[in-house]
Amino acid sequence: MPESRPLPTVEYKDFSRRLHERYGQRNRVIKAQLEITYRCNLHCLHCYTDPYNRRDFLLKELSLDEIKRILDEMAALEIVYVNLTGGEVFTRPDFFEIYDYAYHKGLLLMLYTNGTVFTRAIIDRLKHSPPFSIDISCHSVNEEAFDRFTQVPGSFRQFLKGMELLRHSGLPFCFKTKAMNWNKEEVPEIRRFVESFGQPFGFTTSLSPRLNGDLSSLEYRLAPEEIRRLERRELHVSQDDEPCQETSRWTASSTPERLYRCGCATNTIHISAWGALGTCTMQYEHRVSLRDYSLTDAIAKVFADVRARRYTTDSPCRTCAIYAFCDKTPTDARRELGDAESPVPYDCAVALTRAERIVNQSFTHPLRVQGATQAGPPGS
Ligand code: SF4
Ligand code: SF4
Repeated sequence: MPESRPLPTVEYKDFSRRLHERYGQRNRVIKAQLEITYRCNLHCLHCYTDPYNRRDFLLKELSLDEIKRILDEMAALEIVYVNLTGGEVFTRPDFFEIYDYAYHKGLLLMLYTNGTVFTRAIIDRLKHSPPFSIDISCHSVNEEAFDRFTQVPGSFRQFLKGMELLRHSGLPFCFKTKAMNWNKEEVPEIRRFVESFGQPFGFTTSLSPRLNGDLSSLEYRLAPEEIRRLERRELHVSQDDEPCQETSRWTASSTPERLYRCGCATNTIHISAWGALGTCTMQYEHRVSLRDYSLTDAIAKVFADVRARRYTTDSPCRTCAIYAFCDKTPTDARRELGDAESPVPYDCAVALTRAERIVNQSFTHPLRVQGATQAGPPGS
């Protein structure tokens, strides 16, 4: 009988880092975010997809057959990770048809959910063919505040029920918290809740305009000084949700003329619930419909467009010394200020406090640098 030898093991963080380094350099797509619906049982006030969570818009969403075709193409391209997201993924009636199809293609599945719709049946089904990870939004652990912000009475109790089912399931999960002006005092309590599940706590702070251009979600932003205080106090800041930022901030091209100096158009794609392919969740400047193009052709076209895009104005972003600390995206700038190249004063102020905290030195405010003409410095 041949001698059995144990398979070598590797820590996930090392595996993931190597994969990103290897394929990031080759500009090969390894990760896809697939919004399977804008439908959701909640209506969070900061949610960018919520305006399209309406019956008349649901008719525009990708059909099961279209999603299967896209998953076939992803598998053929040897994409490794597929993040199924929404809306709320479990509200799609054919969710498990999509899930099982992707699972049997060998794709590593990551699920984003609000955690309020778990039932014993859903948990058992997932245990039968477990996902790679489940990310749960956790923006409050206060019943009154949670229900007010989701605009659905009883949603907090549903969330707690879901978390108790998950706690004992053995499924891999973690929490995502967005710190905003309405929950900032709660952050230590949220942290304790998250840590009670044996999970590390982290939070993000960036908010984007809604997909239909409505800016009301920005009302929930923290003031830059509050972000500074919170980041100091709570120490650990998680990676932003946007996939491009995972690989990008410190490694991507710093060619100053490039409009996208993040990781956009390297190794990640994003597909909207209506089938529009882009390079990340918040990139809507360059999209191609997968109803008109194959996945391969869509990636080639969109990546070429994004990589070719250069600043054409004397925007301060072009020469900004602290851009690596900045959350600005061209799409957010267009929605907020009407111009993808324009600096976003709020993002400038946050980037400045972040850069000074992390690098521990003073920087000139990007909008006060000589020649900065796009917008006046914010009052803060
Ligand atoms: S749970 Fe998520 S998808 Fe649903 S409304 Fe809230 S933020 Fe939007
Ligand atoms: S900090 Fe301001 S100027 Fe610099 S990249 Fe961000 S938005 Fe542009």
